[in-house]
Amino acid sequence: MIPAQFDYVTPKTLDEAISLLGQHPDEAKILAGGHSLIPAMKLRLAMPQMLIDIGRIKDLAYIREESGQIRIGAMTTHYQLESSDRLREICPLLPECAAQIGDVQVRNKGTIGGSLAHSDPAGDWPAAIVALGAEIVAVSAKGERTINAADFFVDMLTTALEPGEILREIRIVAPSGRFGQSYMKVPQPASGFAVAGVAVTLTCDAGGVCHSVGVGVTGVASKVYRASAVEQAILRKALDAQTVAGAAAHATDGVSVNGDLYASEAYRRHLAQVYVRRALEAAAARAK
Ligand SMILES: Cc1cc2nc3c(=O)[nH]c(=O)nc-3n(C[C@H](O)[C@H](O)[C@H](O)COP(=O)(O)OP(=O)(O)OC[C@H]3O[C@@H](n4cnc5c(N)ncnc54)[C@H](O)[C@@H]3O)c2cc1C
Repeated sequence: MIPAQFDYVTPKTLDEAISLLGQHPDEAKILAGGHSLIPAMKLRLAMPQMLIDIGRIKDLAYIREESGQIRIGAMTTHYQLESSDRLREICPLLPECAAQIGDVQVRNKGTIGGSLAHSDPAGDWPAAIVALGAEIVAVSAKGERTINAADFFVDMLTTALEPGEILREIRIVAPSGRFGQSYMKVPQPASGFAVAGVAVTLTCDAGGVCHSVGVGVTGVASKVYRASAVEQAILRKALDAQTVAGAAAHATDGVSVNGDLYASEAYRRHLAQVYVRRALEAAAARAK
């Protein structure tokens, strides 16, 4: 449980961090909250030669509203998102998701940027981020680029971030009009990671007809996915019990479902369907 030897640097600015990472793109790793990276290093699953601790850079932890978007800095902790009154008002999916991550210690140290960059197939944030159709801003010595959430999660522990890139910000368009959101999961009993987790955001009209919907599913496959067959099954339909149940049956369409010690493939498929239904029902009830 002792990591391999590494150098440790503490840049004070983002430019300094970008320059350090640019000089050592293959040997260095960014250290955010350390709640995924340090355990991986102790198990020697990761052996970076240098850790670039971005925790001392000012202005990487924030929740702002700008240009019609919610902008969240990469170093914003799960707890800061969980406890934001403003987010509870304009995008309650975010605090609801944050509140279900790990325990108090994890939520106080872990960051949204670290969670997304880690791309754990059972991580909670990826489900909310794909459901919301967020954009992820990456910076490097080459400049800045924006990646759609749908393209960001490439595979288990693999994202679209290129060597030398730092995740700087997450951008989300807050829903408007009559909207409802929900995050529900079956937690792994020891860690809290999702055995199956479902994020839903939807809008509907006064008659209860669904006008837009995003459904993100985590814990079920090798990476988070957007359940587009579920979305198609409820778009432009009244959100009644029969439609919602029928849509939820498509929760794992086209997906290779994981089976492990905690849930067999068949049981996880069942959980995904049940939790998609429950999360849709909760979001629809809140949209009234
Ligand atoms: C006991 C325990 C229980 C947990 N339970 C849950 C849970 O229920 N649900 C859940 O979702 N998570 C859970 N986690 C994980 C936790 O949420 C972590 O905080 C998160 O996965 C990683 O965030 P971090 O800030 O700690 O990142 P770190 O561990 O510092 O980094 C993780 C990875 O991302 C990279 N990275 C970090 N920040 C950036 C950046 N800005 N740009 C580019 N790369 C970056 C690092 O180089 C590293 O490869 C748990 C962790 C522990 C220890």
